[in-house]
Amino acid sequence: MRLKTKIHLLTTLLMLVMLVATNSGIYFLYDKFAYNTEYKQLQARANELSSTLSQLNEQTNLQQVLRAYMPTDGAVYIYDEQHVIMKVQSTLEMPDVPYISFTMPAIWIDGTVVQIKLKQSVEEVASTLGLLKAILVVVSIVATIPIFLASLALGRLILLPLERLNKTMLKSATTGTYEKIDIPDKGRDELTNINRTFNIMMEKLEQHYQKQQQFVSNASHELKTPITVIESYAKLLLRRGFDNKEVAQESLQAIVNESSRMHEMVLQLLELAKNKEHLDVHFVQLELAPFLNKVATQMQQAYHRRFIVDAEMSNYIYSDEKMLKQLLFILLDNARKYSEREVHIHATDISEYVLITIQDFGVGIPTEHIPHLFERFYRVAEDRNRKTGGSGLGLAIAHELAGQLGITIDVESTIGEGSSFTLRVPKEEQQ
Ligand code: ADP
Repeated sequence: MRLKTKIHLLTTLLMLVMLVATNSGIYFLYDKFAYNTEYKQLQARANELSSTLSQLNEQTNLQQVLRAYMPTDGAVYIYDEQHVIMKVQSTLEMPDVPYISFTMPAIWIDGTVVQIKLKQSVEEVASTLGLLKAILVVVSIVATIPIFLASLALGRLILLPLERLNKTMLKSATTGTYEKIDIPDKGRDELTNINRTFNIMMEKLEQHYQKQQQFVSNASHELKTPITVIESYAKLLLRRGFDNKEVAQESLQAIVNESSRMHEMVLQLLELAKNKEHLDVHFVQLELAPFLNKVATQMQQAYHRRFIVDAEMSNYIYSDEKMLKQLLFILLDNARKYSEREVHIHATDISEYVLITIQDFGVGIPTEHIPHLFERFYRVAEDRNRKTGGSGLGLAIAHELAGQLGITIDVESTIGEGSSFTLRVPKEEQQ
């Protein structure tokens, strides 16, 4: 059975049961109340008759007295143990009408104990009850129509957003597109919120897909250039052989340069493709000054450039040593590549954090490029990179590493004067 039908049936049934229960309750309460009232009135009448009888004597017209106490449609009987002594009854009394009666003892005019019995027709009450019953049945039947329609509307209200969602998902699955649902602006209910969340999810998926596509096409484009260079020099060598030593030397040098550039790029791509969620990060308390000095010494030895550290001895930071080192290497390597002079590494303590600034005095970065520096394959200028052999992946990796370590990176730069990259590193474990 469809969910819509189930909701429809169940709500209609429930409402009907409630309606019938309420109407039956009303009927039975009225029934009890009406008969009770009649019975109490009869009882009061009998009491009054009993006290009147005790004051009468032989001369009184008893028929007249009894008639005075007789209910409108009813009768009064006076009887002793064997037979009826006296009886008055209304002319309207009929044998088949419903009645109530009340019997009680009384003192008769001759001093003996008799029973007085008052009988009253309740035909009027019964007919009022009959009318009430008819009204309630009609009301129940008439009320079924709006109940039926309301449950139909309820089913639709609940299922419409779900049906929309299903349709959109089906379309996305069959066409491979990232379909979104048209949502009315005002809708704030839970089901509309599900649709809204679905739209957000689809948008994110689409963005991820586009990023992935971009990444793959960038990566293949970047790898194509060195491969073409290698291929063309290798072909040149094949054609000319090693007769011309100069050409051979140049070709081999180009092949070596491009293949190491490719090697570096592949390593960087692998680094970026790592599943960051499963990366093991080992946070420890690191003594800052010795750590920075070690990093600077390694860079100095590799590149024969001066890396000057300015850090207070007693400072500690909370980070993963290997990952932070990798992050610093990327920034220091850039500082070296894009400048000719020495590179400075400053550390400043600011309450919960330590700021580590890597400052160079090189070419600088135009302001409009700064917001894009951390995007994959983003490079400020092609020709700069040809010379330095960059791939545009270094800062993207630095950004990922910083994210893992809870570090933020700020960039300041002036063209022709140099750049500084400032890391805000936590001193304690972050909540
Ligand atoms: P690359 O491998 O090309 O250096 P990065 O992602 O490390 O890739 O850097 C992206 C771009 O930012 C580079 O093209 C470079 O021009 C610029 N850049 C990065 N660091 C500096 C710096 N210290 N000085 C000047 N330009 C820089």
